[in-house]
Order: sequence, then structure tokens, then C-alpha cells
Amino acid sequence: MTQAPFATHEVFNQSPPFWNVDLFTSDAPLVAAVAANGGAAAEGELSEFGRHWGSAAMADRGRVANENTPKLRTFDAKGHRRDEVEFHPAYHELMADSAHAGVHNSTWNADGAPAGGASEVIRAAKFYIASQVETGHLCPITMTRASVAALAEEPDLLARVMPVLGTRSYHPAFAPWWTKHGMTIGMGMTEKQGGTDVRSNMTWAERDGDAYRITGHKWFMSAPMCDAFLVLAQAEEGLSCFFMPRFAPDGSVNAIRFQRLKDKLGNRSNASSEVEFHEAYAERVGAEGKGIRTIIQMVQLTRQDCAIASAGLMRSGLAHALHHARHRSVFQKHLADQPLMQAVLSDMALHVEATVALVMRLCRSFDRAPVDAKEAGYMRLLTPAIKYWVCKSAPGFLYEAMECVGGNGYVEEGILARHYRESPVNAIWEGSGNVMCLDVLRALSREADAALAVFHDLAAETQGLSGATEAIASIGKALRRPDGERMARLAVEKLALLAAAAALNAVSPRQAELFAATRLAGNHPSMYGAVELPSEDIRGLLERALP
Ligand SMILES: Cc1cc2nc3c(=O)[nH]c(=O)nc-3n(C[C@H](O)[C@H](O)[C@H](O)COP(=O)(O)OP(=O)(O)OC[C@H]3O[C@@H](n4cnc5c(N)ncnc54)[C@H](O)[C@@H]3O)c2cc1C
Repeated sequence: MTQAPFATHEVFNQSPPFWNVDLFTSDAPLVAAVAANGGAAAEGELSEFGRHWGSAAMADRGRVANENTPKLRTFDAKGHRRDEVEFHPAYHELMADSAHAGVHNSTWNADGAPAGGASEVIRAAKFYIASQVETGHLCPITMTRASVAALAEEPDLLARVMPVLGTRSYHPAFAPWWTKHGMTIGMGMTEKQGGTDVRSNMTWAERDGDAYRITGHKWFMSAPMCDAFLVLAQAEEGLSCFFMPRFAPDGSVNAIRFQRLKDKLGNRSNASSEVEFHEAYAERVGAEGKGIRTIIQMVQLTRQDCAIASAGLMRSGLAHALHHARHRSVFQKHLADQPLMQAVLSDMALHVEATVALVMRLCRSFDRAPVDAKEAGYMRLLTPAIKYWVCKSAPGFLYEAMECVGGNGYVEEGILARHYRESPVNAIWEGSGNVMCLDVLRALSREADAALAVFHDLAAETQGLSGATEAIASIGKALRRPDGERMARLAVEKLALLAAAAALNAVSPRQAELFAATRLAGNHPSMYGAVELPSEDIRGLLERALP
């Protein structure tokens, strides 16, 4: 439909909306990374998903769900406690779309065992695509998917939960989970006095027959409308993990009292609560005193998703920037044809190519870990390193993407302002930057042989790439120093870069060499575009990034 022009001016030289694109097939590095990691057979399914999530209607849902933030309804009009959170219908639609595609459970079989094949890679591609449209709702989606790994410690409970969690239905009703045809699960670890140091948790659990009664608080507990939460609390034998449902077995509302919702920088469509438990009913998951060991199974998976989502946010930033640059003229020439803008965009495209190759490689290790000890070693060592590097690189990247779009990038009607506000959280939650670096050191010291095998493989996979040998030597040198902990950021970043070069080399060797030459052979400059790439490579990178 043509619209009437303004009385004083005509609108021109603005890029059209980046809508109604297939977010899978329009992303050649994603297609290649999925295929290289065993997911080629799912291309049709992923393209269908990519078209749906790339539609104008989905972009609108994402916007509306963030503009109409969730509201805590603590009491009803007569003063009775409600403890419900209301969401805009757009949020529920996003949840339903993700659930229908199995983003919350497709890596598990109906019995809760790992689905195997390339299920991690295929689901990761969906998570990556969905995060380009709306990231807030992915919080309960990732926690639900990840919870199964911890519930596996309690086979009876898992067997009860899976028939509900294992469906592809989204059932938001406030009702006991066992009466529903779909459910979500959240997690409560962080307390006021400590999030990293969960051993300082003060919430306590007292036995009540076969179950427990939990009293205490959580300072951050996201997605409070979940049907149940995996919660840490002190029991007689020490810190333990519990399954705390919203309804007690007798059908009464469990004593989970929400205090308020956080007012957050980003992640606005998602509610994050402060909560108290008043002898709330809960079932133990795993042995008493082994709470961290139990819940870490879940956390390993949410860390993986943090990296995937950050990669998706950056992909979206790149796609919007490139799309805009191809339509916007400055000094009679499209921005995409200006040499300096090409230098910026191609360097960003290289970062995203390496990132998507790396996260898909990581997901293959999750697929293979149950049957391949080497892949289990890769998963253990690289998950924290990749979460660290990918998530921490996202805010700076998105800032640059916004700038490529100019003033339009900075306003809320475009998606980039929202992506930018969203991007820091993936580095902060589920283990902040330093904690990830310390976790890499822990893996190196506790599982030294497995880590050594990973380094050997990375050395072989990066053989001949500029700076790879020196990178391996410098990681070893940093870690051998007596003050190794202080050098951990240096070593972990290099490790992630090395793994990215290796992953990219398996997908597209030319891009891997460019990545190695600009990131391993020397430090990458602090700004995108301050590297020298050959003209034909600049063209190739930008064509691959967006046809
Ligand atoms: C939007 C949002 C939603 C959240 N949702 C949830 C949720 O659903 N459930 C939940 O349990 N938690 C949730 N969290 C909490 C989050 O996981 C914690 O904030 C995070 O783990 C950090 O804990 P903290 O805030 O207590 O910081 P601290 O633990 O005090 O850490 C502060 C800083 O110190 C660093 N640090 C810690 N230890 C060391 C060390 N030994 N050496 C050097 N540096 C160190 C950390 O890296 C961090 O940068 C959420 C947080 C946010 C922002």
C-alpha cells in the first residue's frame, strides 16, 4: 500500500525493515556450521523455523513483549495473596512458538535420556535464530530444557515430570503441573549475600516425611511463573538441590511468596523476582549435601545457551547493519560500498562466522559427550571458555552494529537498542566472567589428561593457521605461571580464540586463516574494522553474511 507523502517532505534513503527473511537460509555461515556438525538433515525444518521467526509478525511480538513488561500481582482486590505474574499475550505467543518447535526439550527423549544424533546442534540453531528476535522468553525455555539434566539424579521424579515437560505444548495456566499438558521449570540459587558463592546460601530445608519444607529467600529467581523451580537450600547434610513446585501435592498454592520484580537494564519481557519461601513444599533432587554437583548439570546447559544466545544477538546486529548499509546512501554511494564501512562490516562478519562455527562445534560436543570421552573433555573445558569469550564480546559488537545504522540504531523502534541492552546479561548470569575463567582452571587441574587431549586436537585442527602455534605456547606459559589465576583471562580468551579458529577451519578454511591472522597472530585492535583484509575476502565475507 502506498502511503500519502508528508506535506513538507518525502521519506527516502531509509532502509526497508529487515522482515520476512528466512533467518536460516539467509545465514550461510549458520547453514555451513550446522552441516559441519551433523545437522544437515534438519535444513528443511530449520528453514521453516527461520521463515517463521524472521516474519514481520514475530518481530512485532518481540517488540510488544518488551514494551509491555510483566507485572507482579502480589494480592487480589480483597487482600488475599495471589503471587502471580501477568504477561502480555505477545510473550505467551513467543513461548508457545518456541515450545512448539521443541526449543525447551528437543535434546531429550520422552524418558529424559539425551536424544543423541545432532539434536543439540539442531536445537541450538533454533535457539540462535529465536534469540535474534526475542531473548527474554528464552530464559524459561533454556532453564526448562536444562533442568532435565539435574532431574536425572532422581529417576522417579524425572519419570513423573517428563510426560508433561516432554510435550511440545505451552500451557501457561496457573495450575498444578501434573494437571497440565506442558510445563516450565526455573532455578533459584542466588541469595542476597552471594550468587557465585552459593555455599553461603542461608535458605534451609527440613524433612517432612519423604518431602522437605523450605524456608528462606532468593534474591534473583527468574521466570517466576514457572511450574516448578530447582532450588538450593541447606539440609542436614549440607547444601542440597530441591524440586519446588508452585502447587503442593494437595493442590494448594505452595508457600512461594514473590516480593517484587527486578527493574532490569534489558531482558524486560522476562520477569526476574525476589522471593521468599515459607515452609514451601519441595522434593529433594540428588543426595543431601550434593546440591552443587546436582544443579551444575543444569548450569552447564544454561551456560551453553548463554553463548548461543549471545552469538544470535551478534548475528542479528550484523544482519541489520549490513542490510541497512546496502540501502542507505551517503555522499551518493551506498554505505555498503564505502571502503571504510566495508572494513568494519567484514571484520564484524568474520567475528560472527567464527562465533557461530564455535558454538555449533561446542553443541556437537554436547551431542557426542555421552558416548565419546574426548568430546566430553572438550565440552567440560570449552563451555566456560566459550561462554566467557562469546558473551563478553557481544555488548561491544552490538554497540558497533548500532553505530553502523547511525541514529536509527539508537532508538527503541529498531531492534538494536534492545539487543544492546540485552547483551550484557549472558556474561553476568550463570557464572560471571571471572568465574568462567576460574572454571577453566578447575577443569585443567582436575581433569588434566582430558584437557591435554583437547589441546592436542586443537593443535592438529589449527595446524598451519597464522599464530596458532604461538597461541598454544602462550596459553601454556600463562597457565604455568605461579600467579596463573591472575593470568586466567589472558589464557582463557586465547583458548576460546584458538577453539574458534579450529571450529572455523572445519567449516571454511579461508575464513579461518583470516580469523587466525587477525586474532591469533596478533591482538585484535580494540575497534572493528581496524584490520587489513584483502578486498576479495571482504566481498566474500559480506556475501556469506547476507545474500
Ligand atoms: C537478569 C538476571 C536474572 C537472574 N536470574 C537468576 C535466576 O533465575 N536464578 C538464580 O539463581 N540467579 C539468577 N541471577 C543471578 C546471577 O546468576 C548472579 O547475579 C550471578 O551469579 C553473580 O552473582 P552475584 O550477583 O552474587 O555476584 P558475586 O558473586 O558477588 O560476583 C561479583 C563479581 O565478582 C566476580 N567474582 C566472583 N568470585 C570471584 C573470584 N573468586 N575471583 C575473582 N572474581 C570473582 C564475579 O565474576 C562477578 O563479576 C540473575 C541475574 C540477573 C542479572
